[in-house]
Formats: sequence, structure tokens, C-alpha cells
Amino acid sequence: MSDFFSSPVSETDPLISDAIDAEVRRQVDGLELIASENFVSEAVLQTMGTVFTNKYAEGYPGKRYYGGCQFADVAEQAAIDRAKELFGAEHANVQPHSGAQANMAVFLAAIKHGDTILGMNLSHGGHLTHGHPLNFSGINFKVADYGVNKETEQIDYDELQRKAEESRPALLICGASAYPRIIDFERIGEIARSVGAKVMADIAHIAGLVAAGLHPSPVPHCEFVTTTTHKTLRGPRGGLALCKEEFAKDLDRAVFPGVQGGPLVHIIAAKAVAFGEALRPEFKDYQQQILKNAKALGETLAAEGLRIVSGGTDNHLLLVDVYMDGKGITGKEAEKALDEVHITVNKNTIPFDTQKPFIASGIRLGTPALTTRGMKEEDMREIGRMIASVVHEPESEDVKARVRREVLELTERFPMYQGRLKPQAGGANIAA
Ligand SMILES: *Cc1c(COP(=O)(O)O)cnc(C)c1O
Repeated sequence: MSDFFSSPVSETDPLISDAIDAEVRRQVDGLELIASENFVSEAVLQTMGTVFTNKYAEGYPGKRYYGGCQFADVAEQAAIDRAKELFGAEHANVQPHSGAQANMAVFLAAIKHGDTILGMNLSHGGHLTHGHPLNFSGINFKVADYGVNKETEQIDYDELQRKAEESRPALLICGASAYPRIIDFERIGEIARSVGAKVMADIAHIAGLVAAGLHPSPVPHCEFVTTTTHKTLRGPRGGLALCKEEFAKDLDRAVFPGVQGGPLVHIIAAKAVAFGEALRPEFKDYQQQILKNAKALGETLAAEGLRIVSGGTDNHLLLVDVYMDGKGITGKEAEKALDEVHITVNKNTIPFDTQKPFIASGIRLGTPALTTRGMKEEDMREIGRMIASVVHEPESEDVKARVRREVLELTERFPMYQGRLKPQAGGANIAA
């Protein structure tokens, strides 16, 4: 192989190398509060960057369409066994490239083109893949939706029962991207059975909490459970689909060859590593701290005069109404002002929002990433005060300059990857 082939990216591709370095700086120096993001362990990061990326392994362990899969089999079988153990599931498919593809595979396995699906309204916390008109789910199926109660801003299970009786869905979908409360999967399972529907629980956001036993598990109550592996679960970017044994063959066939070709073996190996981490007792401590941090952050923001949707949180995220019927600023303005002080959040619609999704009345905040960094309740209270001061005075350069300093002081106290994650001339994101 030529020298070029064996050279680091800093020498072969300065454009991309510089982008990596700048992203390292951004992650190290900023406060990451996007609820769907996290920081993977060094072991997971390392596994993703291995030669398993070179391998084609269409099929499943022991039944591949290519030779040379014996080590890919080891990695995938470990990922399957650990996923089943972690969630107490009868069957696991670890190949979905993403959460969206895990969902797509379940649709293909569970229902037929043109059937009715009943999913949570996107503006009440649902996900694009639960029936948005521009998504495959909305294009290929008839969509009915349910939402939260206007007073409590929590899922209205009686209304869900009525909607299920009205729409007679083939598949009831639960799970959300911006819902801060416990989801009653047992009740949803009962509702589905009362109308002869199957249930898919999409626990993309709360999978880590479920794995740690800190949120009730959907696994006993739902035919299918899907998740991403990169949110609270803190693994590589990817998807996972679980199901009851009776649907195992259908699900596997739906993932491959149904919606995907060759699996990403390097990512599957990293999923195995992440699931192994999640099986360790420390993972439960981590998830518990995520919850404590979210509560502390919510309490501080409320004390500072911001409105917390549904009055609080039971999980890793908060939905904050920053618009407050015109008394505050829009979600879009809040996102931008916070970005300027290196606090990363996303604008988000709140239930019954009067603003368009691209403007939105709220912001969504999550604590998984900062908890991984080692931050605790007192740090959350400090961050809550920073956020509130920027949201209350988004035009004030003095406030922004002060908060920018406070962010830097705080982040410096919590180095990532033992301080070895640094932009450097070598371009590699972790120094050996
Ligand atoms: C994030 C998310 C997904 C999609 O995951 P991708 O990996 O981005 O495709 C699906 N469902 C829910 C509820 C999510 O929050």
C-alpha cells in the first residue's frame, strides 16, 4: 500500500481534518443539552473506527451470504445476546442503521401497505416516523393520531382508547421524541388488545432509562419495541428492534432483505460494546443521575420564571415554554441566543403551539450528555440560571459575554475523555 494510503487524515484531507478538529472544540467547549445526544465511551468510539467497516456480512450470524464472516458473527451474536439480556426481550435484531429504519422494518413486518396506524401527534411529542405526511409512514399508511390533554399536557389515555376504537388501527405506535413524562405502556397494550391492534413502542429517547429499570419497560406489553442506540443508551449511532419470538422471522426478513442491504459490522460491534457497558451496575447510577439532573434543571428554570410544559419531568428531558403567550421569546430566538453562548439546545413545538414548527414556542433540553461529562445537580442549577438569564435578555451583549465566560469555566472543569480529546496537529480526535 502506498504511503498516502497509510497517512493520517490530517495529511491527506485537511478540509475534513479541520472540520473534525473544529467539532472536537465545539463539543469540548460547549454545553450540550440536546436531549437526543450523548457522548460515547472511548471503547465505543474506538470500535466504530475499526476494520469491521471493510466487511460485507449480509444475512445473520451463522447464515451469511459471504465468506469470512466468522468474526463478524462473534460481534453480532454478542450484540444480540446482550440486547436481549438488557431488555429482557425474546428476540433482537441489531442491524437497523438508524431508529427510522428500525421502525420501517417493523411496519414491513407487522402490517400491510394501506393499513391504519395510530401514532402520537408530532406537535405533542411524537416522531416523524409515526405518521408524518412526508415520511414513509405517512405516505404508505392511513394515519390517525392522539395527543396530550390540554390541561395536564400529559397523554390522555381515555382519549387514546376512544381514538383507537374510532380508527381501528392495525398498529398502535407509542413512544416520543419530546415527551417528559412516564409512558404507561401497560395501559397502551390493553388499549391495543381491546381493538385487535399490534403495538410498536419506540423507546428511542428513553432506552437507557428502560434498560436501567428507571422507566417501566414496554417489552412485556408490546409485540415490537424499537430504539435508537445513541441517545440515553449511549452507544454508536444506530437502531435496534426487539420483538416477541412469534414475529422473529418476519422482523429479521423485514430488516434484511426488506429495508436494508449489508449490515454495518463496525457499528454492530460498537453496539455490542455499548450494551455490555449498559449491563454494568454503573450504568444504572449514570441513568439515575440523568434523572436527578433533569429535575434540578427544571426546578431552577421554573424558579427563574420559565414555564415547564406539563409542570415538570419524569425522564431525561424538559420541554420549556419560552414564548409564554407572547411574554417571552420564540423557541427559534432562544435557540439562537443560547447558541451564541455555546449552550446547545433545539427549538421545539409545545402541545397546542400557536407558532409554526420552524419557529416554535419552546425549547427541548436533555441531560444525558452533560451527565456523561460528570455534571451533577449543582452544575444543572448553574446552567439553569445561565439559560434563564439569556432567555430573559436575549439582546444583552453583557449578559451573553458573562454567560459565555461561565460556560467556559464550567466546561473546563469537566474534561472529556480524560482531557485527551483535543484538536491537534495530528487530526486524530483521540491522542494515543
Ligand atoms: C430519534 C428518534 C427516532 C429516529 O432515530 P434516527 O436514528 O434519527 O433515525 C425515531 N423515533 C423516535 C421516537 C426518536 O426520538
